[in-house]
Amino acid sequence: MQYSERILKTPSSFIRNILKVTEAEDVISFAGGLPNPISFPVDALKASVDHAITTNGSRLFQYSSTQGYAPLREYIAAKYQRVHGLDIHADDVLITTGSQQALELISKVLINKGDGIIIEEPGYLGAIQAFTLCEPTFHGVTLEHDGLNLEELEKALQQPNVKILYTVPNFQNPTGLTYSKEKRQQICEIVAKYDVALIEDDPYGELRFEGETLPYIGAGKLENSILLGSFSKTVTPGMRLGFMITKNKELLQHVETAKQASDLHTNIFSQYIIYDYLANNDYMAHVQKIIALYKNQAYAMLDAMQEFFPAHVEYTRPEGGMFIWATMKDGTSALDVFAKAMEQKVAFVPGDPFYTNKTNVNTMRLNYTNATPEVIREGIQRLASIL
Ligand code: PMP
Repeated sequence: MQYSERILKTPSSFIRNILKVTEAEDVISFAGGLPNPISFPVDALKASVDHAITTNGSRLFQYSSTQGYAPLREYIAAKYQRVHGLDIHADDVLITTGSQQALELISKVLINKGDGIIIEEPGYLGAIQAFTLCEPTFHGVTLEHDGLNLEELEKALQQPNVKILYTVPNFQNPTGLTYSKEKRQQICEIVAKYDVALIEDDPYGELRFEGETLPYIGAGKLENSILLGSFSKTVTPGMRLGFMITKNKELLQHVETAKQASDLHTNIFSQYIIYDYLANNDYMAHVQKIIALYKNQAYAMLDAMQEFFPAHVEYTRPEGGMFIWATMKDGTSALDVFAKAMEQKVAFVPGDPFYTNKTNVNTMRLNYTNATPEVIREGIQRLASIL
């Protein structure tokens, strides 16, 4: 069989591949990026399945509109109005099969082969994967502790045919870093000078355990602003429910057409269930429980790192989300450490797949949401003995 250049260039998920090795029972794994299953509101969702079917009957099982279930879009719009003071209406919202699908659709709509996409370095590897299918030219911009490096950003924006700037402003995957208020404003001012779509991908924003909620970079300010959200980290990832918000009607229309071609519409059964869940439960109280859980786990990891890690290993201190990013300042290759760590039965993700143009890097991503504080401490101690 002769395959397309497009697919041959696209990396298969490095993480899924290494997760296979790290899934053995006796391995302490900081490699995954999964929400903790104890946070899924299983009983409430079960009640919502029952209630939504009783109330809406066959509508849960019929084909539906591409844009998504209207009451769910209204709920989302009202929340962004209330929490972020944004002028968002149900018509500005498209329900997608996870926010992952939005990444794929947006790039299909905007990118011709060779067009530029600016991405954080390191960046979310699922975005790298989704975008790569359109064969873009990636322009990596260094992600500093407070957001993108502005000089590199300006230079990247001046490259030919740059169409997208992709950011994860809150508790970024893989670094856990959050853009400061000042940097957000500066980035907005810079981006306003260019004809480029600004994607703010924000699946973790509600999971803040320190500090205060910050305004988005471009939402409500830039014409070509796109906000992505997801229920994966706050309710359940398996229902595959995410959304895209933009005030740019033409863009939304094109994305909707691309979505029609891709899957006609997002699973309507899931949309009814989640709407019923959101309408009949205290969602904020639920999110507060997840925050308390992750905060405890994050602090357990940070405390253990402080106690056991050698001085040449630097790491981020997330204010929310699911990840810590460590850098071995002596230049040690994370892939080498990974091999030794597997012998000690502790796992993490070496930094390599998060870069579009670097290999054999000295960085690693550590996930803290899937182990108890005691197990986290033990795992960090094992890792420290290798470092
Ligand atoms: N964006 C980022 C930054 C993510 O970390 C993830 C999940 N790992 C996604 C998007 C995709 O999430 P979903 O498709 O489940 O909404």
